[in-house]
Amino acid sequence: MTSQPAAVGFIGWRGMVGSVLMDRLRAEDDFAQLDPVFFSTSNAGGAAPSVDGAGDPGVLQDAHDLEALSTLPILVTTQGGDYTKAVHGELRKNGWDGIWIDAASTLRMNDDAVIVLDPVNRDVVDAALDRGVKDFVGGNCTVSCMLMGLGGLFRNELVEWATSMTYQAASGGGARHMREVIQQFGDIHASVADPLADPASAILDIDRAVLAKQRGGELDTTQFGVPLSGSLIPWIDADLGNGQSREEWKAEAETNKILGRSGDRTIPVDGLCVRIAAMRSHSQALTVKLREEVPVAEIERLLDADNEWATVVPNTKEDSMRDLTPVAASGSLQIPVGRIRTMSMGPQYISAFTVGDQLLWGAAEPVRRMLKIATGTL
Ligand code: NAP
Repeated sequence: MTSQPAAVGFIGWRGMVGSVLMDRLRAEDDFAQLDPVFFSTSNAGGAAPSVDGAGDPGVLQDAHDLEALSTLPILVTTQGGDYTKAVHGELRKNGWDGIWIDAASTLRMNDDAVIVLDPVNRDVVDAALDRGVKDFVGGNCTVSCMLMGLGGLFRNELVEWATSMTYQAASGGGARHMREVIQQFGDIHASVADPLADPASAILDIDRAVLAKQRGGELDTTQFGVPLSGSLIPWIDADLGNGQSREEWKAEAETNKILGRSGDRTIPVDGLCVRIAAMRSHSQALTVKLREEVPVAEIERLLDADNEWATVVPNTKEDSMRDLTPVAASGSLQIPVGRIRTMSMGPQYISAFTVGDQLLWGAAEPVRRMLKIATGTL
């Protein structure tokens, strides 16, 4: 435990990830050990959030004021990639050698940055701190949730390859994306509220009206580009030009970086990433080719035992419907893993379905824990 509260700058604290980070810091009473300084890209001089346990938070500092930032030994940003691009390099160029903890993907694959997910890779994080690494970045939300749920298979060297087909929530895009999806649902509902209230109305008429609303160009699609509510989008993030999206590319690249694997130890992980109109929590259906035949009961035991948050859901309809959904997982640090069974392709092929609150283990929680590791309190 450090005796003096650690001075830490927070940037991006009111965004989607930042708000969840603030909730977790408050819930764990972490501010009692911190001396926080809050920054803003849009409201410098405004009131900083108050936090129990910490001193007077004062006013918001300008998040682009390099001088103010560089007075702090630790900066935690959940502001986004553009901010990281604009500020991180400049700070380093000016000689700032503090610890930068980030939720954005910008620095993740840099050789001198470590992707943090300490229940899975505490050894990698500790080794990096020992050799003087200063940039620590939370992983892609889907990858982190997958590794938290299926960590037991990776840790026991059982995965030959895996495919992950994702069902990612609107909140993955941020606060404005969540608002847009609710607004779209509301506008669609409003367009058919009268016939919907009439049990005698024809469902095909309602269906036609909904489709007309979705295709009519009136729905606000500023964030997602096309209507998401009542639909899905089978592409997330940039087009890499080879048929793969950046989100899909991250699965293998980040999984292996988190696990400290490279070269001929690389585990192939690939699949399609799909945005759905769930509010919060990303789901993924996995096919895993095991290196050897392992009974399902043993797989369940390994997954459950790997970390205190992975929770096996029995492969029954009732359990899956109750415990293996975004609605069940949202707001919880538990990562339910279910639908585990041997597939018809052969005894070494297993299916699994996992869902995790991507704002917790997929974003805020690894960042919060890295802050505690950096301040010597975890
Ligand atoms: P976000 O909700 O859009 O917040 C980012 C910033 O947008 C805020 O800090 C705020 O900055 C500004 N902002 C503008 N209008 C806002 C509004 N109405 N409400 C709240 N904030 C508003 O983005 P995010 O989802 O938290 O993502 C931040 C970073 O984390 C990104 O790099 C993202 O890729 C990464 N990440 C996100 C997730 C996820 O599931 N969302 C998961 C893992 C990683 P000011 O206060 O300075 O104006």
